[in-house]
Amino acid sequence: MGVEPSRAQLLDWRLALAHTLREQATDSWLDSARRTREDGLKSVNYLSMEFLPGRLLEDAAINLRLRDSVSASFDDLGVNFADVVAGEPDPALGNGGLGRLAACYLESMATLACPAHGYGLRYERGLFRQHFEDGRQVERPDEWLTSGDPFSLSRPATAYAVPFGGEVSDDDGGTAWRPETRLVAAAHDTPVIGYGGGWVNTLRLWSALPAADLLDLDRFSAGDFFGAAETETWARTLSRVLYPTDTTDLGRRLRLSQEHFLTSASVQDVLHRFLETQQDLRRLPEHAAIQMNDTHPALAGPELIRLLVDEHGVGFDTAADLAVQVLGYTNHTLLPEALEMWPVDLMRHLLPRHLQIIERLDQRVHAVHGSAADDVHLIEHGQVKMGELAVVTSHRVNGVSALHTDLVRRNLFPHLEALTPGRILNVTNGITPRRWLALANPALADLVTETIGPGWETDLDRLRELEPHAEDPNFLEAFGRTKHLAKHRLATWLDEEHGIELPVEALLDVQVKRLHEYKRQLLNILWTVSRWQRIKADPGADWVPRVKIFGGKAAPSYTAVKDIIRLINDVGAVINSDPETRERLRIIYPPNYNVTMAEKLIPAADLSEQISTAGMEASGTGNMKFALNGALTIGTLDGANVEIREEVGAENFFLFGLTADEVLARREQPGHARAAIEQSQPLQDVLQAIAEGTFSPEEPARYSGLVDHLWNSDWFLVASDFDAYNSSQELVDMSYRDPLRWQRMAVTNVARMGSFSSDRAVRHYMREIWNVPPAQ
Ligand SMILES: *Cc1c(COP(=O)(O)O)cnc(C)c1O
Repeated sequence: MGVEPSRAQLLDWRLALAHTLREQATDSWLDSARRTREDGLKSVNYLSMEFLPGRLLEDAAINLRLRDSVSASFDDLGVNFADVVAGEPDPALGNGGLGRLAACYLESMATLACPAHGYGLRYERGLFRQHFEDGRQVERPDEWLTSGDPFSLSRPATAYAVPFGGEVSDDDGGTAWRPETRLVAAAHDTPVIGYGGGWVNTLRLWSALPAADLLDLDRFSAGDFFGAAETETWARTLSRVLYPTDTTDLGRRLRLSQEHFLTSASVQDVLHRFLETQQDLRRLPEHAAIQMNDTHPALAGPELIRLLVDEHGVGFDTAADLAVQVLGYTNHTLLPEALEMWPVDLMRHLLPRHLQIIERLDQRVHAVHGSAADDVHLIEHGQVKMGELAVVTSHRVNGVSALHTDLVRRNLFPHLEALTPGRILNVTNGITPRRWLALANPALADLVTETIGPGWETDLDRLRELEPHAEDPNFLEAFGRTKHLAKHRLATWLDEEHGIELPVEALLDVQVKRLHEYKRQLLNILWTVSRWQRIKADPGADWVPRVKIFGGKAAPSYTAVKDIIRLINDVGAVINSDPETRERLRIIYPPNYNVTMAEKLIPAADLSEQISTAGMEASGTGNMKFALNGALTIGTLDGANVEIREEVGAENFFLFGLTADEVLARREQPGHARAAIEQSQPLQDVLQAIAEGTFSPEEPARYSGLVDHLWNSDWFLVASDFDAYNSSQELVDMSYRDPLRWQRMAVTNVARMGSFSSDRAVRHYMREIWNVPPAQ
């Protein structure tokens, strides 16, 4: 780094570590690419608008099997390894689960020696940093690049022009698109190191640059300086920010431009790499699979067809067939507001050639399937439907949990399922055990290795061998110590980072995830108020001390859940300062939930809150991280909770609430919310306290809208599930009072979570969707 060791700052050490680790990975990185190229191996191209990798360096050290020696080397230098890695920014290039899933899958692909590229955007500003002011969420820009991106390599030689706008004309024999402007996509590559270091893939993120001719010199000379730089400014805006909404789509021009920019640059790169060693484009499906992570990259079909037809002279039908063989689509949500649709006018303005191709694809579906396709419309009511487009251009479509896939088949795309039975399949999500156990929970990881030996890191089913030890009091005690250690680590971190005190002896009850009405943080905080009221009414009773931990961001425009954030903080302010209840109930809400915070919180948790309205959470992966780390789940029959409960056993899971079918039926009953509240004295007491301003004395009516909504509408059925949730929470207390019983349940959870490894999920994709065998 050009610095004398005696004068080096932590930042210098971190940059040096990043370069050293990257160098250690480089031989494998080059070898993996060379093998793929020279042996003509088929590879996966995983397109995602979001990647949430977490801090890179410690993970790289673990996967290179160098963590202990790196740490020892720093000791020799008189530097603390933990301090070095703690300074690393956590790249927030995603909103939540979808981006984190992409990161887990890339890590598993590298571990399984599945040749792959991840493709995404290199947002200059990631997801906003969350602060609280008077309990309210305040967003500040995320500046993750201020000290560079030392683990990655910029590749100025790898760049593509991405066209926008202009006109299409059909002149003799061919279609000509004369775009109005072109942006340049420049590549930045991060090595993705498989466990053991034997295979290394690439995460390639694009940043947008203006093409050299974008400064309009005529306008400039005429004195219109700002106008002249307009396109240049627009180019720079394109990869500047990540859209901070995880479900609702804003339908904005900039977002569609970002999606096109990602898919066009990535698909051009896929074709470029194919043509380096091959000539016959009809063999593309033997060499490349492209996976679309949700509909955000759903322009990949039209873009691939455009490049094949317009630039390589392939016939339209052949090109469309090739696209289908290459593409796969993962659906992540049934929420109607999250199903992307783009106005035809906007698409015509920005991407006229793509619109033309989509219209032809629509005609083709009807020509091939006749009246059976009467209900299929890629364009309807002036909107291009990206879900339909993604299905029609893919040979496989998958949901992300058994329940979700069933609902995708039955409710979302029934007409498409009927056309091509078998196209829709399920691949339940997974998480990587390297980050979510080895890195996040070293004490538990060590205990596992001591007990069953090494190897579980790449064969998570081996955790089953822990099961006999669930009857061994010595083992249970050792397990209890790992939980205690994790709580102490969390306490230190909360104190140092946030000045928050954590009572480590209490039951840690954690709900961390994006704020959304369907995830029902509201149910959790209402119950917490109820608990407080009951402790006050009966202070002599034997209450299990609890710390309720919340974490998560709200989309800046989502006012309904911003109210819930404020309510949690308002309730916390009152309850935490109540001397009567302080020792038995505490609320903690550290701001700015991200992967790093998840790594601290999850190993320390006793109870995992997975309480979404049934039928609304596609899978969840937070639920898996907690159970793998020995937290018990209180949850509804939603998403992957269903499968987690089947695996760990109903007796080791706190189930409550309406099922997905019951939710639909309940919503049909007029006045269901009012009826539920009138039947529940505890819930009435809670709502009355909130309505009276108990938690907002300076503004008693602050939550009147929220309370009104619960009485009169309650789409997410908070009131309907309140009493069931309360009963389940009482069972939690009862179980926790018997520490050995609790630990036996927790160990059983850990032992039975093997199938939620992302290795299992990625193997399934390789076999059933990508048709890619492992390279090693
Ligand atoms: C795992 C994870 C998520 C997804 O959590 P869910 O509970 O499944 O919604 C979101 N954000 C971060 C930072 C995560 O690590």
